[in-house]
Amino acid sequence: TQSKEEFSFNADVARLMDIIINSLYTKKEVFIRELISNASDALDKVRFISLQNPEFMGAYPDLQIMIDFDYDAKTVSITDTGIGMTKAELIKNLGTVAKSGTTAFLEAMGKGDSLNLIGQFGVGFYSAFLVANKVVVASKSNDDEQHIWTSTADAKFFVTKDPRGDTLGRGTRVTLHLKDDAVEYVEQDKIKNLVKKYSEFIQYPIKLFVSKEIRKQVEDEEAEAKPAADDETKTEEEVKEEEEEKPKEDDAEIKDEGEEKEPAAEKKTKTVTEQVWEWETINEIKAIWLREKSQITEEEYNGFYKTISKDHENPLAYSHFTAEGEIEFKSILFIPSQAPYDLFENYYGRSAALKLYVRRVLITEEFEELMPRYLNFIKGVVDSDDLPLNVSREQLQQLKMIKVMSKKLIRKAIDMIRALAEEEDEEDDVDDEDDEETTTEEDEEKSKDDSEEKKEGDEEKKKEEDTDDKYTKFWKAFGKNIKLGVIEDASNRSKLAKLLRFYSTHDPETLTSLDEYISRMKSDQDTILYLPGDSKEAILKSPILKKYQKLGYEVLLLGDPIDEFCVQHLSEYEKRKVKSIAKDDVNIIDNDEVSKKKLQKLKEMYKPLTEWFKQHFSKQVEKVTISNKLEDDPCFILTSQYGYSASMEKINRAQAF
Ligand code: ADP
Ligand code: MG
Repeated sequence: TQSKEEFSFNADVARLMDIIINSLYTKKEVFIRELISNASDALDKVRFISLQNPEFMGAYPDLQIMIDFDYDAKTVSITDTGIGMTKAELIKNLGTVAKSGTTAFLEAMGKGDSLNLIGQFGVGFYSAFLVANKVVVASKSNDDEQHIWTSTADAKFFVTKDPRGDTLGRGTRVTLHLKDDAVEYVEQDKIKNLVKKYSEFIQYPIKLFVSKEIRKQVEDEEAEAKPAADDETKTEEEVKEEEEEKPKEDDAEIKDEGEEKEPAAEKKTKTVTEQVWEWETINEIKAIWLREKSQITEEEYNGFYKTISKDHENPLAYSHFTAEGEIEFKSILFIPSQAPYDLFENYYGRSAALKLYVRRVLITEEFEELMPRYLNFIKGVVDSDDLPLNVSREQLQQLKMIKVMSKKLIRKAIDMIRALAEEEDEEDDVDDEDDEETTTEEDEEKSKDDSEEKKEGDEEKKKEEDTDDKYTKFWKAFGKNIKLGVIEDASNRSKLAKLLRFYSTHDPETLTSLDEYISRMKSDQDTILYLPGDSKEAILKSPILKKYQKLGYEVLLLGDPIDEFCVQHLSEYEKRKVKSIAKDDVNIIDNDEVSKKKLQKLKEMYKPLTEWFKQHFSKQVEKVTISNKLEDDPCFILTSQYGYSASMEKINRAQAF
């Protein structure tokens, strides 16, 4: 027999376990979600590998998750027929945390309530210790003999060869020895409800080993002759016909027939009650994206979102559609209501959050080719029958079809955001949205409809305010992504520009769109004006702003370092130039002949002064001039037309993004 080997958790895991085991967290039940999601991941891997290597399934082709209890020992066990772990994998996967952001997570968690996010940080397994003081993991990989991993959460764990042999065939069995304050989980109804709550959309059968009272009909000898007499009234042919038809009959008909026969049956049988143990499948495994939209409730969409995103809040919006044409696929996209903690950590290395299925088989969860980086926050699933199953990820990336899919997904994602922004009736967007892929014309029609709706006016007001709040919420969470989109995605730039929101001098407390800005422009104004700076507050104090404000020109206050970079990618918006008032070629003030003459005179009058300045600051400035841009401040430093603005220079220096 092999001896038990002892290992230490790495520092992050040890700290994490310490927090978890001492947690007073009230939602300890999330462990069930995490362990089932690990089982499901492990099953996905088997399904994926067997695409190329059907032998891999071997003698264990049933892909499933089983949950059973030991009432005396107070344990719950979750068993899967997934990929399993070798000895080395048990040590690595359950002993270390390799993911980035763990330290940030630990800090957040130390402060309190972020255990909710445990799954998002790739440390879900350890949630087992919310309810267990001892966890035993037996695992059998095709590449190794069965091993057992054990820990009592005291900074170390043990691994040993399983003395019982390879009892699992293939897969993993996680056994939780429940803490005294968690014995409530060794109860079949409790677990059943939790599984229903958290794992409704898992793609594999989840079976619970439950005891049931069943009512059974046993033969009652006295009434044996009666049914035979029934049959005698029919000809032989009739009976034969009936039997042939049976499989084609639908449930209702079969039931009818049953009801008819019942009175007769009662006479030959009697009912007894028995206690039995059996495996009960408790989830529906039909993929939600294959179902009819009209048959899916909002709650189901929300639940599905939570399953795939590991978010605990409802999504802000979703879009369920079928794309047709060159390639057919079904998809559900979601906008989370909050940005993940690390949205811009490693922006360029972050992978997309769309799960790609081919014929219901999960191919990959990290497929960059489907969504551009700036839309990385969109979660969801994509499933196509048209993609080949037997190709590697690398080959998949090369496929032209993927590009077509991506284009459609991007458009759908932007449409979904636009719908939030357009204050339109949410249901219009979500439910009426094309079952088939819309064409551009249809899109145009749609937006025409929208503007008509808006004219209808006041009774819609309340609703509009609500959705407006939704968009503000969206903007606060993901506005920066839209700005990055304007910078990075030239082909969707004009659509994305419509989604931009900035503060402006019109009302520094309210975000405005560029369209709203244009609607308020003065009749002699042909340029969208903005002023960048360190913050909205700092910009509002800028001397150059005063005169524009006094004369009634609205100026956008670009207080985010990325803002100016973003609007510079819009040299025009709706045929209007977009320009900074801090640049010397922008002069829309006092532009009439009289003022121009007056300015010319002043320039001459003050020539000695400007010359003097120029001599003294010849190294620092390009030119010194008299301007009518200021109200009551004596001087101001501007950027030349093609020069870097002050804030851009700061960014370049700091490499802020
Ligand atoms: P994550 O699932 O985000 O990777 P977890 O802490 O939940 O993080 O799990 C850590 C790792 O342990 C998984 O990535 C996986 O490699 C391994 N693992 C956990 N549970 C199972 C299981 N039932 N079958 C196979 N491997 C598992
Ligand atoms: Mg996990």
